[in-house]
Amino acid sequence: MREVARGTTPLNIATDISPRLAAAVVVARVRPLTGGQARPAAGQGNDGDSDSTSQNDASPGGTETTSEDAMYGAAAGGARLVDLAAPLNEDVELTLLKEQDEAALKVLRHSAAHVMATAILELFPETKLGHGPATESGFFYDVYREVPFTEADLAAIEAKMAEVVARDEPFVRVEEPRTDALVDYVEKGEFMKVYFIEKFTKPGDEISLYKNGGFTDFCRGPHIPSTGRVKAFKLTAIAGAYWLGDEKNQQLQRIYGTAFFSAKDLDAHFKRLEEIKARDHRVLGKQLDLFSIQEVAGAGLIFWHPKGGMVRKAMEDWMREECIKRGYSMVFTPHIMRRELWQISGHEGYYADNMYPPMELDDAEYRLKPMNCPGHILIYKSSPKSYRDLPQRYAELGNVYRYERSGTMHGLLRVRGFTQDDAHIFCTHSQVLSEIESCLQFAESVLKTFGFSDYEVELSTRNPAKAGEFVGDDQEWHNAEAALRSVLSGWRKPNGDPLAFKTFPGEAAFYGPKIDVKIVDILGRRWQLSTVQFDFNLPRRFELEYKGEDGELHRPVMVHRALFGSVERFFGVLIEHYAGAFPLWLAPVQVGLVPISSEKHLNYAEHVKTTLEAAGLRVELDARNEKMNAKIRDFGLQKGPFILILGDKEAGSDSVSVRTRGKGDQGSATLEDFVARAKALVESHGMEL
Ligand SMILES: [Zn+2]
Ligand SMILES: [Zn+2]
Repeated sequence: MREVARGTTPLNIATDISPRLAAAVVVARVRPLTGGQARPAAGQGNDGDSDSTSQNDASPGGTETTSEDAMYGAAAGGARLVDLAAPLNEDVELTLLKEQDEAALKVLRHSAAHVMATAILELFPETKLGHGPATESGFFYDVYREVPFTEADLAAIEAKMAEVVARDEPFVRVEEPRTDALVDYVEKGEFMKVYFIEKFTKPGDEISLYKNGGFTDFCRGPHIPSTGRVKAFKLTAIAGAYWLGDEKNQQLQRIYGTAFFSAKDLDAHFKRLEEIKARDHRVLGKQLDLFSIQEVAGAGLIFWHPKGGMVRKAMEDWMREECIKRGYSMVFTPHIMRRELWQISGHEGYYADNMYPPMELDDAEYRLKPMNCPGHILIYKSSPKSYRDLPQRYAELGNVYRYERSGTMHGLLRVRGFTQDDAHIFCTHSQVLSEIESCLQFAESVLKTFGFSDYEVELSTRNPAKAGEFVGDDQEWHNAEAALRSVLSGWRKPNGDPLAFKTFPGEAAFYGPKIDVKIVDILGRRWQLSTVQFDFNLPRRFELEYKGEDGELHRPVMVHRALFGSVERFFGVLIEHYAGAFPLWLAPVQVGLVPISSEKHLNYAEHVKTTLEAAGLRVELDARNEKMNAKIRDFGLQKGPFILILGDKEAGSDSVSVRTRGKGDQGSATLEDFVARAKALVESHGMEL
């Protein structure tokens, strides 16, 4: 709900809205209507400084970001989140956030961190507190205690938290002079609070503290009205971390938990975590024999096994055919190239940390390629180009090698060697718009074909205030950003909805603005895959040219684009999206054959196999001397789409008895009908069996 509060008398949101409404509202967002924006008193951000203990920032649950803007709501046009009890002293646009609002959930979670700190201090008063931000999936608090906490302590802390919640203590904001707070915290030996106050506030500031019952915390807020609103919470893990990430410092502990507005949401959260675990591509990759990473060969390097290789072939065949249909030329470039080339491209300078060291050969030093761009540029430059030749679109499934720190690799998602479905488009300024449109259409086609129904788009632009840090002149940036924006603004998703894209000023690469496409998988997770990027840098460095209609030489525009992104990573996402149960066209084994008797029915089974293979289907015949049910179970564990049972009845009528994944026994069909149906399904890339 949104209303405008006007007037000069301070409005107190909590007391000036109806009690019925107040029960549903958690926090408010205000956006000043007049120029002056009343800053809140200085305080430690809810998410504090993620650099302080960043070495252990990764939570056991996966990636956690503690975006200050997201929490504090400072991003959108000066809007910020405030407590319901905050006095309003100016004209503002006021938005009351209810429990359903994502921002409200973060406020709840940060408040749960205060509840946890309250409980910890009541049980273990000697504990010193660090910071306690909300995260994407919950909250944590960094604490220090000479005797480290154990898992067993978590249960006691949880029980005490329940008491704090039951007491329904209001969160009260107080402001006091910085010096008073510092004296107080120094006295209590709260070394981390002292550090944060000194880091985040200036001498002379009023700082804000939040109290609930007997607990006080240095905090910028905002908070939910009272502890009673933390209706469902759970502590999930303890991890070790050194204070400020320095092993010479005290060993802190980070206690993780999560909180929701209802027990139902909390249950759903843990069900989802179980589902994510069950879909883990590293586990399924092993179980389905798709790929491996071998210690003897090195971390982050992927071995595609025959079954994974078959899926990859289907992915790549589709991609190559689509590229050709869409006017791309397929090219191939070397894996190692002379160091001199990387000096020209600039990778030796700005990308060296991600590259493998040079290797000495007879004539020069060579380096493994971290990107395909310079190779494609050399192909462009190998002959003079005129405007009639443009656009040139070079596509390559190119293997690149990038150094990732040891310990950061993660299955197929973060690796040291991978395959980009990379393309570079060289075109004139007037062709840019339609090229960008085509890239986006292509990206949509990838998502649809591979079974994703939704996606999000982010536009990263230059920060005009820091123009000096970006290559390219104002006009180039203006044109490129305008082209990207105009394509995105007019875009309709396949369902007809307009594309709501987010713009991130300052997030562009130094060489040009870009569009990133994030797909949404079946569990609602977002994966950054496709990207379309402008480049003002490389055409300059390599002095790319084409002869224009005017007979003069011009510099072409260069666009980098990748749609799968990395074939390895995309495969990992697919495994998790499908939980290993690939649609027919991607399944490594499409049809499993089970002769009821491995002697009597083997001939007919061989006949069926030959017929299916002649139709282009991937078939596996289980001729082992095993019971029929054991064979069916084994094929089932491999998550194959179809199993055909072959016995006397089938052999006598040239038919098959069909078992379909997820549907079980589907009765019999003539062999001819089954082949026709399976072929049609493969050709249409159908998702349903
Ligand atoms: Zn707080
Ligand atoms: Zn590139």
